[in-house]
Amino acid sequence: MSDAQTAFEIIRSVTRTMIESRETQPALDAVVQLISEKMGAEVCSIYLHEAGTDQLRMASTYGLNADALSNVHLKSDEGLTGAVFSDGDVVNIAHPRQDARFKFFPGLGEDRLNNFLGVPIPPGTARGNGVLILQGTEPAPFNRTVHDLAYTLAAQLGTLLENRKLKSSPLLESSGGMSRAVPPPPKEAPPFLRAQMAMGGIADGTVLVLKTHQVWEDLLFSESEDAEKELVLFKEAVQLARKETRWLRQRAGELFAEMDARIFDTHELFLMDESYVGLIENHVREKMTAAFAVKLATRELTQSFQKSGNAKLADRAADLRDVALRLLNALGEVQGHYHPEPESDTGVIVAAAELLPSDLVYLQSRKVLGILCETGGLTSHAAILARSLDIPCFIGIPGLTQFLPSGTHVILDGHSGLIYIRPEAPVIREYQRLLASFQARSDIQPPDQDRTLDGHPVQLSGNVSLLSDLQLMKRFGIKSVGLYRSEFFFMIRSSFPDEETQFGVYRQVMERCGAFGVTFRLLDVGGDKPLKYFDWGKEENPSLGWRSIRMLLERPDILKPHMRALLRASQLGQMRLLFPMIATLRDLRELKEHLKVAAAELEAEHGVVFRLPPMGIMIEIPSTVLQIEGFLFESDFICLGTNDLIQYLFAIDRSNERVASYHQPYHPALLQALKHVADAAQKAGKPVTVCGEMASDPKAVALLLGLGLTSLSIAPGAADDVREALAKLSYLKCQSLARRALQLSTAEEVRKEVDLFWPT
Ligand code: PEP
Ligand code: MG
Repeated sequence: MSDAQTAFEIIRSVTRTMIESRETQPALDAVVQLISEKMGAEVCSIYLHEAGTDQLRMASTYGLNADALSNVHLKSDEGLTGAVFSDGDVVNIAHPRQDARFKFFPGLGEDRLNNFLGVPIPPGTARGNGVLILQGTEPAPFNRTVHDLAYTLAAQLGTLLENRKLKSSPLLESSGGMSRAVPPPPKEAPPFLRAQMAMGGIADGTVLVLKTHQVWEDLLFSESEDAEKELVLFKEAVQLARKETRWLRQRAGELFAEMDARIFDTHELFLMDESYVGLIENHVREKMTAAFAVKLATRELTQSFQKSGNAKLADRAADLRDVALRLLNALGEVQGHYHPEPESDTGVIVAAAELLPSDLVYLQSRKVLGILCETGGLTSHAAILARSLDIPCFIGIPGLTQFLPSGTHVILDGHSGLIYIRPEAPVIREYQRLLASFQARSDIQPPDQDRTLDGHPVQLSGNVSLLSDLQLMKRFGIKSVGLYRSEFFFMIRSSFPDEETQFGVYRQVMERCGAFGVTFRLLDVGGDKPLKYFDWGKEENPSLGWRSIRMLLERPDILKPHMRALLRASQLGQMRLLFPMIATLRDLRELKEHLKVAAAELEAEHGVVFRLPPMGIMIEIPSTVLQIEGFLFESDFICLGTNDLIQYLFAIDRSNERVASYHQPYHPALLQALKHVADAAQKAGKPVTVCGEMASDPKAVALLLGLGLTSLSIAPGAADDVREALAKLSYLKCQSLARRALQLSTAEEVRKEVDLFWPT
């Protein structure tokens, strides 16, 4: 592996190990082994501070005599380790035993070691959580690359250990079946943050806070001198704001095809609405300045929306704030404040309480490197913008704009889910190195046909959620769409798109990728993918409930226009139709029947033949694995949805963090299921594609190939890593790896086997 890839891999693996392990001790044991092996240091140890006794305890070591571990305690300022802990500074020296501070523990096995690197956890913090130590036989200090990577890992460990403390604290609240930590927002910027990631990638830059809220706070009451003159000014501002709104509508339609650009029609309606405009005018007549009148009327109206108890109206509050800002802008009140001006050459990391619909349009054309948002989910405006710009995005960080002022240097690491605030020099160096090699790697031209080292062909296609993902796919050299998740288009809107709107979007996908093949998945909403404008009714277990095709089959008013739009687009190129959440053959048969009826209707209306696209099912519910032969007989192809298959195989809600440790893609039970499906598909001569996250994990790819699964639909951003892995893999060796893995009994054993298999 390249240096940068090794570094990424270590950072990712340490994070994954800490998150996946239920207990801290096995997690630490795995982490020290991983760091030692991957970084080529003979010894890696972690000391943790015990507040009660004010001692440092060697919590885990790899390379030293573990039997002597229980004796290794130090006062918090004792030895080299104590010095690192109490001073908060890195110690990187040769010949540690000659150092006056060194404390010798008989039987531990340090006699042969000639260098010592100790990094406080987290770095730069005196008396933090503990110390990360690397030791080796070289009689020289560790080089800068190792130093910087160890520093970054110690930062990571600091956050992960804090996270663990938080998880085991009573702060864990239960909310609708999901456990959620609810720490109060920090008042001052912590050195690191872990937050929900809406889009991956790495960014290094300075923060620019969008002062949407600040604008309101800064706007104080002021009296106008001439109410009539102020009224004229306000009327002009309304006309300007309407003009801008129409421009926004047009740009939004061009930039974000799936977005409901009609949202801006609603904005224009606000600008024509007597109850809003009239209210402002009344305030102006009471001798307020127009700007303050806008603030007051907007506040009055949004409060009444929120009090109404009507979710749709409450949602409108953000739109009204957006409109009001446009009015203020027109009034010249916020010029140069609200939108980032002047343009920064190097780009900025935008931080905001919320991103408004117009921010999508304004920020699209600016140099934005990353996005941080206090609110929002995976389909929020922030997430949509990040996808379309292909930049990292973190959401759900309460108080962000308070403790992270504009100009703060941050590094966003979408690989490990960490945000470094005012990072120190070694972390900056480490990420600049990673960024440079990352950018250089993206320029590699992909081959026409992907192959393993020994020439076995592998089919790579892309998982796509929005049209903007197609750009990303192209950049990473992927031509066909292996999974188009149609639900995202529905989720980012405020109402169901009609047949024509759907066709408009599907047509664009076909025009761009139809020559290479597109697998469209039928609307897979519900469970972890709700639609805010659709009333699902209350369900105890939404993941096991009325979701996806179960809902569609009972709602022909939704299913029919959806199928018609897809059928119309399918005539434009190579399309396959994929049915999600299939549990029984009856599901499949009913859907096929609906499709035939829709095609017959279209034929009658258009007077041309509508050929049916190949139809396949997602294998994600265990019943389909057990009855695979029957499903293969009645399908043209199948796709393995490992995300849901894991969820339903191990009976875990995939959005519930409490049971995240059961999400085990390396578990032999899952591998048995995959093998059963792969063998049956091969026997039936039907194509099978893996489209769950597992296919994007370069390490798991060896297992999948070994099981005979050579068509992978991956996250486009994972293409470089997967290709790099393929170039090192022998198909024959993958087969024997899979055979060995199938004999094992736990996910940990399989992971070890896979780790051993991979050349470092
Ligand atoms: C899956 O379940 O593996 C899958 C690809 O679908 P989604 O993640 O969209 O449910
Ligand atoms: Mg699924």
